[in-house]
Amino acid sequence: MNMLDRIHEAMPRAELQRLQLERLQALVSRLTRHVRRYRERLGSFRPTQLSDLPKIPPTTVDDLLAAFPYGMFALPLREAIRLHAVNGPGGKPLVLGFSRNDLTHWGRLVARQLAAIGVTAHDVIQIGFSAGTFNPALGYLLGAESLEASVIPQDPFHIEQQLQMLRNYRSTVLITTPNNALDLARLLDSRCMDPQSLSLRVVLLTRCVAAEDRDRIAEGLATPVHATFGVPEVLDPGLVVECDKGHLHLNEDHFLAETDTNGELLITTLCRESMPLLRYRTRLGCVLDSETRCNCGRTGRILIAGTPMDDRLRVNEITLYPEQLKAVLRQTRASSLPMEWEINDRCIQISLQVKSEVFSDTMRVLDELKNEVVTECFARLGIQVNVRFTNPRQGRCD
Ligand SMILES: [Zn+2]
Repeated sequence: MNMLDRIHEAMPRAELQRLQLERLQALVSRLTRHVRRYRERLGSFRPTQLSDLPKIPPTTVDDLLAAFPYGMFALPLREAIRLHAVNGPGGKPLVLGFSRNDLTHWGRLVARQLAAIGVTAHDVIQIGFSAGTFNPALGYLLGAESLEASVIPQDPFHIEQQLQMLRNYRSTVLITTPNNALDLARLLDSRCMDPQSLSLRVVLLTRCVAAEDRDRIAEGLATPVHATFGVPEVLDPGLVVECDKGHLHLNEDHFLAETDTNGELLITTLCRESMPLLRYRTRLGCVLDSETRCNCGRTGRILIAGTPMDDRLRVNEITLYPEQLKAVLRQTRASSLPMEWEINDRCIQISLQVKSEVFSDTMRVLDELKNEVVTECFARLGIQVNVRFTNPRQGRCD
C-alpha cells in the first residue's frame, strides 16, 4: 500500500473531524476579517461544530464573477504569487490566486496521488496534455517535483512526438488526458508496436472515464490506468486520491465536502490562503460515500464523480459554454444562416442551411465560408469544427 502522508490520509475520523472544525473556525475568522463579501454574509456567525456548516450561505460562481478579478482574495495581491485564469459560465473569465503556501500544499496533495499509484523519486514522469488544459499540468508538475521525480513538462503538439518522447526519455509514468491516451494506444496499434517496448509502467488520466475506455487504454498501452477528479475553480488535481482499489478518496484534511438534495457537490477549502471558498457550489453532481471502509487504509470519504449540472461542454478536453460558440459564430458570415450543431467528444459538427441561389453558387463561396468558420472557432476557442451545408429543398450537400 502506497501512502505518502499516512498521518492525514489515514487519520481516524474523530481526529479528522476535530482538525476540520479547527481549520473551519480559523477560516471563517480569516474570511470575516479580510473578504468583504464574506464579512457581510457571516456577520457574527462562528461555527462551534461541523454540523453548523449548512448555516453558512453557499458561495456560487456568480459570487466569483461579481468579485472578479480580486474581490474574493483574502491576502494582499502581492502575496498571490500565481494567478490562474479559469473559464467561467458563458466563457466569462474567473481568476484563482495562489500564495506560496497554497502552491506548496497543492504540490503535496498531488504528490499523494502520485505516490498512491506507485510513483517514486526514481520515475521519469511525462506530462502530455491537449491544448486548453494547461492549469492542471502545473499541478502535476508541482506534485512530481514534490516527490523529486524527474519530470518532463513539455506538451508536444503531435501525438507522434509524444510517442517519440516516451521512447527517447524512457518515461515510466504518463500523465495525460483520456483522449490523448486513446490516441497513443491507437498509434501503437496502427504501427504494430509492442507497448511493452516502452518503459511505461503506469498512466494517470486527468479525469474519470467509462470503464470500457479505461480498459482500452490499459490494454493498448499495457499498463495499469488510474484517473483523478478535480474542480477547476477549487483545485484540479489534488482534491482526491485514487487508491489501488479504484476509489477516489477526498483529501478531507484540506477540504470539507457536502452534497445538497440535488446531488450538487459543495466544497469548502480549509487551508487555502489566497482565495479560500466557503461551501462553493461546484455545479457538478457527485455522490459521497460515507459508508464504505476501503481496504487501502485511507479514511477520506469516497467520491463518486458525476456529470456537470450546467450547460458546459467538453470538446477534445476543452471546456466551453454554448454562448462562447454562439459569440464566435455571430462574428462570421455564417451568422445570418439558420444553423444546427452537434457536439461529440472530439469536435463540433456545424450544419449551415443555405438558400438555393447560394447553393448553386460557385464552390469557392461555400469553401470560403467554411474556412472562415473553421478558422475562427480554432483560433478563438481552440476547438475543431466540421462544417457542412444543407439546403432546405435538396437536403445535405457538403
Ligand atoms: Zn481506498
